[in-house]
Amino acid sequence: MRKIIFAAAVLFTQVGFAQKDTVYFKVNTTNAKANKIGVSMTFKTGGKDIVDVKMPVWSPGYYQLMNYGKTVKEFKAATNDGKSLSWQQMGTDTWRIATKGVKQVQLNYEIQTERSFVATSYINEERAFIKPTATFLGVEGALHLPAVVTVPLENGWTRIATGLDSIAKGKYVAKDFDILYDCPILVGDLQELPSFKVKGKMHRFIGFKMGNFDGGGLMKDLEKIVTTASNLIGDIPYDHYTFIAMGPGAGGIEQLNSTAIGFSGEGLNNTGSRNRMLSFLAHEYFHHYNIKRIRPIELGPFDYSKPNRTNSLWVGEGLTVYYESIILNRAGIINKQDVIDGWRGTIQGFENNAGRKKQTLAQSSANTWEDGPFGKRGETISFYEKGPIVGLLLDIEIRSASNNKKSLDDVMRYLYNTYYKSGGRGFTEAEVKAACEQMAGTKLDELFDYIYTLKEVDYNKYLTKAGLTISFSEDKNQKGETITKATLLQLENPTTSQQTILKGLLK
Ligand SMILES: [Zn+2]
Repeated sequence: MRKIIFAAAVLFTQVGFAQKDTVYFKVNTTNAKANKIGVSMTFKTGGKDIVDVKMPVWSPGYYQLMNYGKTVKEFKAATNDGKSLSWQQMGTDTWRIATKGVKQVQLNYEIQTERSFVATSYINEERAFIKPTATFLGVEGALHLPAVVTVPLENGWTRIATGLDSIAKGKYVAKDFDILYDCPILVGDLQELPSFKVKGKMHRFIGFKMGNFDGGGLMKDLEKIVTTASNLIGDIPYDHYTFIAMGPGAGGIEQLNSTAIGFSGEGLNNTGSRNRMLSFLAHEYFHHYNIKRIRPIELGPFDYSKPNRTNSLWVGEGLTVYYESIILNRAGIINKQDVIDGWRGTIQGFENNAGRKKQTLAQSSANTWEDGPFGKRGETISFYEKGPIVGLLLDIEIRSASNNKKSLDDVMRYLYNTYYKSGGRGFTEAEVKAACEQMAGTKLDELFDYIYTLKEVDYNKYLTKAGLTISFSEDKNQKGETITKATLLQLENPTTSQQTILKGLLK
């Protein structure tokens, strides 16, 4: 803890926070009973007569228009010494302030919160979840400026969880608004599980109403997951990482050095629900590589004022789903048969969705803003379902074509090192295909047809190379409807080559 504070203090000086342009936010949680978060914001005008401040319309990681501006109430603008300034609201998300030439402006407003959800802010008497994109206004054209946020411990609350660097108790710094908007804050009477370090980096798990369970045991498994995932990529790019457990409920959103998740420890004694929870945690954790750093070029730097559309969520989300079970298997948490059963279920789900004949994988990504996060079953497909299927076939084909010298892991490492680390940018669609073909040493046009066309998937052409075979038959579901049943088996007498590929995929 001490070390982290020290590191943050150094950063603070290095990036010149002495600079006068820092934007200051102070949160007020005393109106928790009315579900209102108070915000006071102070910034320099740079001598401009007119300044626009804006609220994002969406949050990275949740590809839906949220129009957060509509939750801003009691907006007030004043000079440093408290004289009111006039302002005008321009649409839902923008406030235009007439500064009368003053150097510094202070804004006060409230966020009226309604429900506890990973993509919105929420406060009640028990805790506050501050989603920065839904809470902190940004000065138009000045999102490169540093921000300092003060979060008081009021209402008898004891603890704060966030990925932001702390510079004093309850005081946090972000080097720009991309970092501020990337770091949700949970404050309340929170509980912390035993932390662990991987390659010297601290990993914490802090949450609200986590329930009665073996927290130490969970953290041991989580340490294995973090170790396995970071070994896969070969680098840990952050200084500290925080799992922010928001309380019982579904959903999670990934950030650069934290994830906010719906979480309850109750039920973790049951193997099935424990593995589902570990899978979910592995997913959110692996996202800090895949989608936050290994990212489609359209996803960052972000435009917070409109949808940021990409064809590549099959990589960012689909391959993250694929790697959930691969990571759990390599970490020794689930066995080979568990993973094969999971693949079978995913393929069966996809084959029973009529949407597969109507929407391509690339379209499911681009249209997620209209179709919703999981698509409209029967009409569209979900990149969470077809994405991991294509990931599996790609992994098998790269292993097979390269005589097991390369795999999808090499593609992920290549994208990370080439475009994120060296290039400081996202990848293009052509660059992903080129990286896969470079590792395979051959063209992969047919597999990419499964991303860009409606072509029916020829599963066995690829699965056989890993000693697996799938068959489909008719079955009835619980409602008595006819469905396609998938059966995925290991070949009885696999060749050495088939055995080698399956051994490479799974332990
Ligand atoms: Zn995800």
